Amino acid sequence: MELLDGKYVSEKVKVEIAAEAAKILARTGRKPHLVAVLVGHDGGSETYVASKMKNCEAVGFKSSLVRYEGDVSEEELLNKVAELNADADIDGIIVQLPLPKHIDPEKVTEKIDHRKDVDGFHPINLGRMQRNLPSFIPATPYGITLMLKEYNIETSGKHCVVVGRSNIVGSPMSILMARNTYPGNCTVTVCHSRTPDIKKFTLDADILIVAIGKKNFITADMVKEGVVVIDVGMNRETSTLTKSGFKLFGDVDFEGVSQKASWITPVPGGVGLMTIIGLLKNTLASANKQVYP
Ligand code: NAP
Repeated sequence: MELLDGKYVSEKVKVEIAAEAAKILARTGRKPHLVAVLVGHDGGSETYVASKMKNCEAVGFKSSLVRYEGDVSEEELLNKVAELNADADIDGIIVQLPLPKHIDPEKVTEKIDHRKDVDGFHPINLGRMQRNLPSFIPATPYGITLMLKEYNIETSGKHCVVVGRSNIVGSPMSILMARNTYPGNCTVTVCHSRTPDIKKFTLDADILIVAIGKKNFITADMVKEGVVVIDVGMNRETSTLTKSGFKLFGDVDFEGVSQKASWITPVPGGVGLMTIIGLLKNTLASANKQVYP
């Protein structure tokens, strides 16, 4: 078994991104600029946004945080997005999900100018991605493709099973793996909560990508020898054993499954770090007007 090492790949790509950001600064006098909007005080969201901001600064981007209490109205939030859309100094806008129940995430996603939608959630970007046109690709699937490339994982003709069909991970991941490009050209099966006997499908997977949010859901008896495993799950549990007070678990039982896998991502240290890279690369591409000239 070999590790798909998110720490190694993300550090390497960050050096490349920082060099590009320095070129933009030298050429234009400005840094790529990402704005994050955070509503409420969800512990996970606070951590993710802080990490995104920190990584932006580390590669020489400018980052700004717009904060609202959980009772902000949908109208006020939409007005803020419109204001950020119109601000020429901003290259990328992300609104951290989940949002409070009284705010429709679809409305907010569609309000973001697709040319600044560096999360790649806007229907225009998703549609363009499906057509293999230049687009912002959702950060987690994008990061996974970069990792597969880095380790030259063969994908053509393979059976890729994606467990989970969320708008941000499972669904775009399944589209990417089926596209006629590298990584891609897989035969893709998408499993979800209504799939009876998931094991029947996972046992046949050459590449297994799991994004469901259920700790250690995939066990060794559910995979075949030599499978490539991408574990997207980030299940936080409180723990007295760590400094942060919580411990992260994947959706895959690493202990057991790594005995059979040819390649596997650890949690932490795998996909989570690559997600940040996807976001940084999209922001850089926006600043360089690479996707929408
Ligand atoms: P989500 O929106 O909650 O979607 C979960 C998906 O899993 C749904 O499609 C659901 O099916 C399916 N599912 C749930 N229980 C299942 C079961 N028992 N069997 C089969 N399918 C099941 O989740 P998400 O946002 O994609 O996130 C998934 C996990 O990835 C979470 O742990 C999240 O924290 C993590 N995540 C990590 C990163 C990262 O950077 N590493 C980024 C994003 C998310 P239905 O559609 O039928 O309900």
